[in-house]
Amino acid sequence: MSELDCDVVVIGAGLAGAAASSICSEHGLSTVVLEARDRTGGRGFTRRFKDREDQLEFGGSWIAPWHDRIRHYADKTQITLRPTHPVDEHRRHDGKALRSGMPAADLALQAVKEHALLYKAGKPSPWKAPLTLNQYLDHIAASPEARMHVLAWWTISGNGDPDRISAGEFLSSCAYGDGAPESMMTALRHTLVPGVGMLAERMIASSSARLELNAPVSAVNQDAKGVSVTCVNGKTVKARAAICAIPLNALRPVAFTPALSARKREAAAVGHGGRSLKLWLKVVGVSPGILASGGPGGLRWLFSERLSADGATLIVGFALADGTLDPNDRASVAASLARFFPEAKLIAWDWHDWLGDPYAKGTWVALPADATWIGDPEVWGREGRIAFATSDFAEVSAGWFEGAIRSGEAAALTILKALCA
Ligand SMILES: Cc1cc2nc3c(=O)[nH]c(=O)nc-3n(C[C@H](O)[C@H](O)[C@H](O)COP(=O)(O)OP(=O)(O)OC[C@H]3O[C@@H](n4cnc5c(N)ncnc54)[C@H](O)[C@@H]3O)c2cc1C
Repeated sequence: MSELDCDVVVIGAGLAGAAASSICSEHGLSTVVLEARDRTGGRGFTRRFKDREDQLEFGGSWIAPWHDRIRHYADKTQITLRPTHPVDEHRRHDGKALRSGMPAADLALQAVKEHALLYKAGKPSPWKAPLTLNQYLDHIAASPEARMHVLAWWTISGNGDPDRISAGEFLSSCAYGDGAPESMMTALRHTLVPGVGMLAERMIASSSARLELNAPVSAVNQDAKGVSVTCVNGKTVKARAAICAIPLNALRPVAFTPALSARKREAAAVGHGGRSLKLWLKVVGVSPGILASGGPGGLRWLFSERLSADGATLIVGFALADGTLDPNDRASVAASLARFFPEAKLIAWDWHDWLGDPYAKGTWVALPADATWIGDPEVWGREGRIAFATSDFAEVSAGWFEGAIRSGEAAALTILKALCA
């Protein structure tokens, strides 16, 4: 079939697209979902470790206690949640040696707490324009050890070039708890047992939407009568309206006619800077529940998450894509592991290259300090018959699955309103 007609075409089958298709179907609109990949879930990517063993999340994994919408859809699609293993032991590397516990809260780390709590209370920050993380660390006169500590937690928050990305991405994450970086653990409360990929699949399957995989969209045209969406494979979908639910960094190759607003085009050209590396390591000799952070480079944040089916331990680790870790090189990965887990024997490791992935071109959203406006939901308002959704510019919980779902739902409601007007 080369041409389809429907009420709404949703572009992208990540959680934003899945939520949008759920709402459209619930309201009786015929919906087609076009997905570039051969799977649903987008940056929620569940697959087997080394394609043969444990099912793991190579994209996002954790959900926070306050992430209500993803919990709602998990419940609705009968997906059970797995509580995160409690942290039984903290380790840190201060650049010279492995130590026990978190660093003492020196003046700089006390300032982090104070600034995170200002953020939590909705109070303005003490500086006029957003600072990059490195500018912020200079501002609070962070010691080398405090810098290492912050950079470790940065790999799971701001996750980009510390000379480019806004320190706000870090402070807002510290604000999940009492303001200390390690209080971010309060957000990493559950994972989805069959995986996030399964959630997206079930959300779309339980709607009446028609899903087309392997359908990368290359062009979106709209006029007064409707929208026409063309895929690279020549397939065309004609609809009354469209919801574009693809990542901010994957928007550029799609040709919109008429062109998108200048602000949207500029935002897509700037792009977000999310660039962490997430690795899964299978090891023996380590028990679950050990949280390790710090170090001068390579993997900076590691958590021994659980046992694998064969009794080995699965460690999830994060690094910055700053050249200090080669995720394809055994010696590089083993050296990073040994820094924190000298007792471990590395059996295997696996990862997904989100930066090289053409349908993501980055990890989760990280806003540049000189262009935080690119994530402003107002920039991403409806244009005629097209609404926009993704966690990257979600109004609430941006950067999380929860934000993707909320953004998809909001875009669908915007389209419903426009079609009823
Ligand atoms: C390594 C990593 C760790 C993360 N950790 C967490 C975490 O622990 N918890 C959490 O909540 N979040 C986490 N995130 C973030 C979370 O994965 C994302 O915020 C969320 O999945 C984004 O959903 P989305 O629907 O907005 O975009 P996506 O999931 O990226 O979905 C967009 C979809 O659009 C498709 N697409 C792109 N271009 C086209 C095109 N031209 N035509 C058709 N389809 C197209 C893509 O293939 C994709 O399926 C993490 C992300 C990464 C990468």
